[in-house]
Amino acid sequence: MTAFDWGGRLVPYPADSAAAYRTSGEWSDLPTGRRLHESASRYPDRTAVITAEGSLTYRELDERTDQIAAAFGGRGLRPNDPVIFQVTNRLATVLAWYGCLKAGLIPVATLAQHRMHEIGHIAGKVRAVAHIVEVGLSFDLVGFAREVAEQQPTMAHLFTVRDLDGVSDPERIEDLGTDIDPVLARTFVEEVEARIDPADVVAFQLSGGTTGVPKVIPRIHAEYWNNGLAYAKALGWTEESRVGHLIPIIHNAGVSCALHAAHSVGAALVLANPEHVAAFALMADVAVTELLIGHGHYRAVQSKDFDPLLATLRHVVLSGAKVSADLFARMEGHGDRWVGQLFGMSEGMFTVSPLNSPAEFRSSTVGWCIASSDEIRILDPSSEDQVAVGEVGELCCRGPYTIRGYFDAPDHNATAFTSDGFYRTGDLAAIRLDGARPNLSIEGRIKDLINRGGEKVNAEEVEVLLMRHSGIAAAAVVAMPDERLGEKACAFLVADDTGVELSMERVQAHLDSLGVAKYKWPEKLVWLAELPTTNVGKINKKSLRADAVAMLQAEGVLS
Ligand code: AMP
Repeated sequence: MTAFDWGGRLVPYPADSAAAYRTSGEWSDLPTGRRLHESASRYPDRTAVITAEGSLTYRELDERTDQIAAAFGGRGLRPNDPVIFQVTNRLATVLAWYGCLKAGLIPVATLAQHRMHEIGHIAGKVRAVAHIVEVGLSFDLVGFAREVAEQQPTMAHLFTVRDLDGVSDPERIEDLGTDIDPVLARTFVEEVEARIDPADVVAFQLSGGTTGVPKVIPRIHAEYWNNGLAYAKALGWTEESRVGHLIPIIHNAGVSCALHAAHSVGAALVLANPEHVAAFALMADVAVTELLIGHGHYRAVQSKDFDPLLATLRHVVLSGAKVSADLFARMEGHGDRWVGQLFGMSEGMFTVSPLNSPAEFRSSTVGWCIASSDEIRILDPSSEDQVAVGEVGELCCRGPYTIRGYFDAPDHNATAFTSDGFYRTGDLAAIRLDGARPNLSIEGRIKDLINRGGEKVNAEEVEVLLMRHSGIAAAAVVAMPDERLGEKACAFLVADDTGVELSMERVQAHLDSLGVAKYKWPEKLVWLAELPTTNVGKINKKSLRADAVAMLQAEGVLS
């Protein structure tokens, strides 16, 4: 087997690192679809997925996804064809994901909220061949997919999930391959898998980006499933675990900390959408034992809607923003529930509180790496010099689950990685010692983005889009605090020579006309005569962030 030739667009792991990760067992030679099949062979009658729409055992999930893979093949889709996903957390999303993997296709982890600005760019970058969209959302993704196909010469296939009435003519994932003999479908999958090299791409994730448009993150078969398995082991999950998840399952955190992690140990995935009342009710019904809470739900778990879950939860993991003492106390309660923290990124590495870590460290740090070959360095942001233990610097990491380069982005890769392959995360961190044991404390970030309830908004990307309006001469987008979502975008704007300050409606209409996903739109506009600068002439975002906070306080929105 040799890996697919991406014409130099994929950065391989160095041969010595790859060999070491294989020897340590952190990498595997098996294709990812085979790993699901292995779990299904071990736990055929256990429940693999529970959603509001229905459930599947491992045997059912395995057989249906074999059939879907065979149907993809029958439609002319070929291994290494990228497939754009615009779906939410549905049963059919799980079917589509594994169906793609078993056919050797590469899911591209875009979101249902993305529009032409994002999808056009990413579909072009990866040369996507198929598009899977959800029906029944407030936006017509089927119509949108047809527009995308008109612009993308490689795009040839459209599939839907949740087209409950069968109103649109694209094929439904739910129906795909149901007429194929399961034995023939299995043979098809095995033939595909025999040709998958461990270094082949299994999924394309997206980065929030540190400059410009989102970058594409290639995850490979050798490492991706094992990343989930390492997480499941770190938390002591077994086939008895019931793993709740209500943030996008297609995101890397969804795949690595829920979908693959649960299925790597025979656990049940309990999948819901972010609307917390319905999600918590489903999870309470099936007695969820494991739950990852992103900071977009920090408020919701403090409400009484969450009370019924407290009885059955064994491990609660909080992630995305600093954890207050109140939140930690609420989650920990008086039972034998364990509460910890997770820090991670689609580029790969994540850290989690060790199970035996004292509460003092679980409440104030994000623990440590989950893989023994993971390496962490805290560097001076402007050089490759390490800072002393305890001092704040840029978190940099290298390891079996961390990419060595973004896909087709040589210029960006030149600065996003150190000369010896450590990924510069753009996050600020310090090492805090618990005796001899290191823990990571997150201390802010240097990358210029807004973390809106877990969705990253790249400030520069939005600034460039805003300035495409002739009435906007300059723009600076900064994060402003928000109680529910953690952060939202605030745009400081300078009008053109006419001095006319555009209304929020006109700015929104402008971004809409450019096909920009709504979650990136600024939620507050402030017009200035000019943007403040630092003494080296850069826009002074620190002072703008302080101004945004002062304004929210003056408005009584923030205490
Ligand atoms: P993503 O690739 O979308 O998962 O985003 C990764 C980024 O989210 C990290 O680089 C951090 O900036 C942020 N992040 C993830 N976990 C945490 C956490 N526990 N605390 C603060 N920021 C976090």
